[in-house]
Amino acid sequence: AKASGGNSFRFFDKDMLDIVNTRAALEADMRHGLQQEQFVLYYQPQVNSAGVVTGAEALVRWQHPQKGLVPPSDFIPLAEESGLILSLGAWILDTACAKLAEWQSSEDTKNRTLAVNVSARQFRQNDFVAQVLDNIARHHIDASKLKLELTESLLVDNVEATIDKMNQLKTRGVGFSLDDFGTGYSSLSYLKRLPLDQLKIDQSFVRDILSNNNDAVITRTIIALGQSLGLAVIAEGVETIGQRDFLQQQGCLSYQGYLYGKPSADLR
Ligand code: C2E
Ligand code: CA
Ligand code: CA
Ligand code: CA
Repeated sequence: AKASGGNSFRFFDKDMLDIVNTRAALEADMRHGLQQEQFVLYYQPQVNSAGVVTGAEALVRWQHPQKGLVPPSDFIPLAEESGLILSLGAWILDTACAKLAEWQSSEDTKNRTLAVNVSARQFRQNDFVAQVLDNIARHHIDASKLKLELTESLLVDNVEATIDKMNQLKTRGVGFSLDDFGTGYSSLSYLKRLPLDQLKIDQSFVRDILSNNNDAVITRTIIALGQSLGLAVIAEGVETIGQRDFLQQQGCLSYQGYLYGKPSADLR
């Protein structure tokens, strides 16, 4: 390609890009990355109304040898489509439980909770409950500090099976948070039936809470709904003291966002 000069470089690059960009290549690259342990978990603090860290959410990143740190939005959707989320999810659960064991071995971090995102496809696996219980046993963790974040997409089908699985884990102490609440399409009658512990207000509502009256009303409604269902409520994407004060006034007493800390590899 070099000898033919000028334009051929561009074509060569473009062809390469086309190949690299195919889903198959990305999927193979992910599979390889999983084998090579290129994935890492970051931890973002969750705080109470006194600003004290009560726990964290585990957020996956891909430390790619060429592309650098790849955000989950660039690979989770394909991982879900391809089914790779099952092995990636298993790795995430294992790694998160190891972190929880580490925290539980130290006096000043032993009461921390750790929230782990579980994709719908991962949760629907027949052996999901067994997988979680196996991790709890292997890592000798207090299961009441493990919180699984589910999304409303789980409510689309087979609510009975979802409730059954949740109850099996709940009897062992595992908690459940409904992530991105308000952005999906869960019916309120299903919401009432789910054995949840917490609702998580999506950052899309929190962002303009002080300037957009609709967002303020939605947020207020979610908080009131949580209170009437006996659920804790946490807000994500809290970036300013103004947002936090508004949430606090409305009765939301747990927060996560850049105001308190970005996700990092070494939350201590
Ligand atoms: P999510 O579960 O809603 O996670 C919250 C996202 O908001 C995270 O993005 C976090 O870094 C970001 N964030 C936190 N605080 C702030 C803030 O104050 N302002 C703004 N603008 N953003 C904030 P991230 O880490 O890029 O993750 C994106 C999404 O990828 C997650 O959304 C989740 O749906 C998915 N994801 C991340 N980790 C995992 C995982 O381990 N498993 C699965 N299945 N999905 C994951
Ligand atoms: Ca989440
Ligand atoms: Ca969320
Ligand atoms: Ca979100």
